[in-house]
Amino acid sequence: MKIICIGRNYQDHISELSNQRPKDPVVFIKPDSAVLPKEQDFYIPDFSSDIHYEVEVLVKIKKVGKHISPEFAHLYFDEVGLGIDFTARDLQEELKSKGLPWEKCKGFDGSAVIGEWKFVKDFPQLNSLNFSLEKNGKMVQQANTKDMLWSVEELLSYVSTFFTLKKGDIIFTGTPAGVGTISAGDSLEGFLEGQSMFKIGVK
Ligand code: ZN
Repeated sequence: MKIICIGRNYQDHISELSNQRPKDPVVFIKPDSAVLPKEQDFYIPDFSSDIHYEVEVLVKIKKVGKHISPEFAHLYFDEVGLGIDFTARDLQEELKSKGLPWEKCKGFDGSAVIGEWKFVKDFPQLNSLNFSLEKNGKMVQQANTKDMLWSVEELLSYVSTFFTLKKGDIIFTGTPAGVGTISAGDSLEGFLEGQSMFKIGVK
């Protein structure tokens, strides 16, 4: 199983990190060892003093596909979820400035929080879903998937031109504005259309 992540898919988040709007989606991969085991706390790793949360809408691939066109992309997934793409922002800034790959800052153990899964058919519109993240009970990120630069279908099509999608692969579709740092003792809870999808503690 692989985790394919999209960076810079919401204009307001691109602006808050002073990044350029990309011509094509920014794509990176987390290894399967990045998945935070269910019901487990997230432990801040020693190599970073600035771990950021990034809440993101997820889709789970249900069958093998390559060179998928956007109009057929919906046939390759039927579950939607919510998760966190934990990022060692200090390390990422260092790697970005040196033009080096992002794996160390994005793919470390526990960096992929994957919450509950829901059937896409149970929501009115995949590309108009409200989602949010609360830190210690206070809203820190709130957005709607209609504000994505590339829709879920377009993302799936794009990534499938590089990587064969396999059953069980998960796509992280990018984070909106409001990313921020975490400290030991924090709790993070994510909501999709008002439903709690995950709740984790930070140690
Ligand atoms: Zn992200």
